[in-house]
Amino acid sequence: MAFPIRKVRKPADLTGKTNGQLPDHMMKAIADHGKMHHLAADAWNAMRTAALNDGVVLSNVGSYRSYNSQLSLFMQRYVTGDSGDHRRIFRTFQGQKWMLKPKMAPAAAPGTSNHGWGLAIDACLLVDGKRIGIGSKPPASRYKSGTAWLLEHCHKYGFSWELQSEPWHIRYVEGDAVPEPVRQWLATNPPEAHAPAPPNIPPTPESPTVVVVMADPPYPGGRGFRIGMRNNPHVKTIQRRLGLKVDGWFGKQTKEAVKKFQRENPACGPADGWVGPKTWNVLFKYRPPFVKDLSIGLKDSFEVKTVQKRLGLFVDGWFGRKTKAAVMEFQKRNPEVGPVTGVVDIKTWEALFR
Ligand SMILES: [Zn+2]
Repeated sequence: MAFPIRKVRKPADLTGKTNGQLPDHMMKAIADHGKMHHLAADAWNAMRTAALNDGVVLSNVGSYRSYNSQLSLFMQRYVTGDSGDHRRIFRTFQGQKWMLKPKMAPAAAPGTSNHGWGLAIDACLLVDGKRIGIGSKPPASRYKSGTAWLLEHCHKYGFSWELQSEPWHIRYVEGDAVPEPVRQWLATNPPEAHAPAPPNIPPTPESPTVVVVMADPPYPGGRGFRIGMRNNPHVKTIQRRLGLKVDGWFGKQTKEAVKKFQRENPACGPADGWVGPKTWNVLFKYRPPFVKDLSIGLKDSFEVKTVQKRLGLFVDGWFGRKTKAAVMEFQKRNPEVGPVTGVVDIKTWEALFR
């Protein structure tokens, strides 16, 4: 089965905005949870109503993603080096090649996803309160296949697929040309219906304020990065961090910018314009955003990995008894974070990364 793929026309008000850092006033709540760019949200809400009338309950497993949530998702699914996965799916991020891990769904590199523009949505079906993936068979014949319904109708509401390999991932492609069925829906529904209140399903956690964070590529090794180096991916990473022209060429301008940074950050050591491990670590010191409370039982979590790294534990992303004990130990040593619970709440998190 082939899914029609059309190019995205971006709404005009996205010009000059940054992927994953859209202001709240550009967003609208969507049924049954999450948010999207206001034009995409109208289209989704209109389409969802039409599907409901046909007995198909559309829901989603991913709508707008901030830069930080895309980063967190990406870090959970991709590794630098060989993941051993036979699909060999790669992404380029911060000048490095990343490979998808086994059994993980692909995701775009942070800053490039249509989820970050509020235009993409990962659709699913809601059947007896359970989420059923688009592309898989519905459990009972009384439900139309979500895929079939979307194939027949979603273009009318301005949606189209992006990749043949992701039947659940559709995005709003019409830009400012609001499709007729969406106009009709808007005209016949009171404004409060345009921002429906979420039902019992908890919304995906999304931090309301977007903090720009720099991921922490570890120091690549060697004697450092200095004037004269050309065509070097790590030099590109440094240039990106310093807001310079990114060409991988360590010239005079890059050297001057590094020196300035070193003077402003004495932890780098002497201001010699040479990026060795010390300067690198100050450049890419990582202050991750708080997403949610972390407690025992969490598995394969990017945030747990970050905590483990900070506490000097074995880094496997699995919040087990050892991680809990180390967190309790940390809380004992830092009484200002409150009671010793072994749960990383916002206070503990902030103390960890102060
Ligand atoms: Zn998607």
